[in-house]
Amino acid sequence: MHKIDIDLVEMTLDVMKYTIDRISATNSKIGKPKKESELKALVGETVTHEGIGGEQAFKLWKNHLMKANVPADHPRHLAFVPASPTRAAVMFDLVTSASSIHGAYWMEGAGGIFCENEAMRWMVSLTGLPEGAFGVFTSGGTAANLSAIVTAREYWRRDDTYKREKGLIITSIGAHSSIKAMAKVADVDILLVDSEEKLMGNDLRKTIDSLNFHQRKRLFAVVATGGTTNAGIIDDLDGIAQVCETENLWFHVDAAYGGGALIADSVRHLFNGIERADSITIDPHKWMFSPYDCGAVIYKNPELAKEAHSQEGSYLDIFKDDGAHGFNPTDYQIQLTRRVRGLPLWFSLATHGTNKYKEAVERGLELAQLAGKLIANEPHVELVREPSLSCVLYRRIGWNPEDYTHWTYENHKSGFALVTPTKWKSGNEYETVSRFCFINPDTTEKDIQMILDSMK
Ligand SMILES: *Cc1c(COP(=O)(O)O)cnc(C)c1O
Repeated sequence: MHKIDIDLVEMTLDVMKYTIDRISATNSKIGKPKKESELKALVGETVTHEGIGGEQAFKLWKNHLMKANVPADHPRHLAFVPASPTRAAVMFDLVTSASSIHGAYWMEGAGGIFCENEAMRWMVSLTGLPEGAFGVFTSGGTAANLSAIVTAREYWRRDDTYKREKGLIITSIGAHSSIKAMAKVADVDILLVDSEEKLMGNDLRKTIDSLNFHQRKRLFAVVATGGTTNAGIIDDLDGIAQVCETENLWFHVDAAYGGGALIADSVRHLFNGIERADSITIDPHKWMFSPYDCGAVIYKNPELAKEAHSQEGSYLDIFKDDGAHGFNPTDYQIQLTRRVRGLPLWFSLATHGTNKYKEAVERGLELAQLAGKLIANEPHVELVREPSLSCVLYRRIGWNPEDYTHWTYENHKSGFALVTPTKWKSGNEYETVSRFCFINPDTTEKDIQMILDSMK
């Protein structure tokens, strides 16, 4: 199975050709999802005793299965948080796979981990965290948030007073769903400040003051958002940091989406206070142009993460041996065996330089401002709020929720665009609105105008 044969050489060339075609295509199609039964009918049995052969399997992939995906890097994919990995990063993702690096321990992955750490040092420098702060790459923001919450909880529970208490964290309803989901995994309760607008230090102050004695005892952390997923809102990080310091609470900043904007001079000041965080989540697979999957968690004091996450086992002792000196990424997050998933980011950074990253992120910010102007110029649409980071919320005047859904499906079906509705809460009302999120610097003004025109 592993022997080099002529077929395999050809297969490798085919795969490389496909990859090159894919990343140099300028007008790739937005795919259409199909039901599992439809896909099954198209491809038949693929996992058989004898195998169907690489050529056949690849053909099925190209002809049917690939077309049932919606590539996140399409310039008119403006839904959720899209992606736009650089070609350098994608090519090095292949290199990462081909190199079979076990990225848990320095002993096996020194070269790969060295590269990851170079990229990480740059990311940490963007945050302004003090000397000694460092981080590791994770599978995504969810795993990064979980790793941080568990670190915070274990640190809190060092004190015997809290050993038997169920922890409590405060965040706002603007926080990402993964905060709530990971609080469940970590078995801690969560209290949501009921506003989707910027969470201010004062709001946090009031919420803490409203807690009863036992709730206050259980409170150990606050999660602020550095760019909400829905609207791009950055909480009052300085004000929140102040309260956390006074109250002796762990301060986590979830900047999974917004973190890329730390490099953009035009908005960097909005993140002031992030340098006071105990932990920060940033997803390079969102706004740092890395392929999936690549998140990151950064700690002010990585030793605390190590205490929470370092795994023990007789089969692992060798990795702690003197001969294996070095940084072991597994010690700082929830995963043991791990891909050196920061490697594509490192190669891309090394290739392009950080100035290119700055330009590409600034372009996303510009596109949001541009979309705001185009929306203001059109009578059939209006802004719900001013664009924030690269998110734009706007309404089609006169539409009800079904109209938005229908419009999304129509655009999707025709392979034109993927723009999805969301809800925005103002006062006690939730309104269905349309949302753009710009990541891809290749999105054009014309793309935006065409999408707005399709709402007429
Ligand atoms: C996307 C996102 C997450 C989750 O990250 P994944 O990489 O999808 O796990 C968490 N927080 C925020 C603010 C996000 O935008």
